[in-house]
Amino acid sequence: MKTSTSTTLTDSFGQVTEFIGKRLGAIDTFAAHKPSWWEVEVYRTEGGSYVVHWSRYSNLRHQDPECPRLLAGSAKAVPADPQDYPLPCKTCGPGRWGASDRISVDAVETAPALIKLLVGDVPNNTIRAFLAELSEVDDDIYENWMRKVIL
Ligand SMILES: [Zn+2]
Repeated sequence: MKTSTSTTLTDSFGQVTEFIGKRLGAIDTFAAHKPSWWEVEVYRTEGGSYVVHWSRYSNLRHQDPECPRLLAGSAKAVPADPQDYPLPCKTCGPGRWGASDRISVDAVETAPALIKLLVGDVPNNTIRAFLAELSEVDDDIYENWMRKVIL
């Protein structure tokens, strides 16, 4: 088993989360042909809480720094390197603007709360596969996700 380490995570707004714990796993949806992708890491603290580190990225390059697709969510326009932002925006065309990374850090105390946070309204197969992976290293996630008791 991995040993606990001290970790500091910062979200898009500069809020800092500090804890001592282990990284249970990570997954990402990167695909070069997709307009956006995300990455999520899950940690378990020494106190037993779970920390979820979400990062959302864009592959689109925009001509208009005020393009509505660029400013969706909390993203800001940032100068875009074609290597990092390879796809042309279908709304305003390829240019020199990209979307800033959107990063959030959430903490929950229990495995059911973690599952609810990860799954959201509709569980997709990427998240299902990730929860199955996390179940292999965390007994509480296993008990709450891999076993269903139907009355
Ligand atoms: Zn655009």
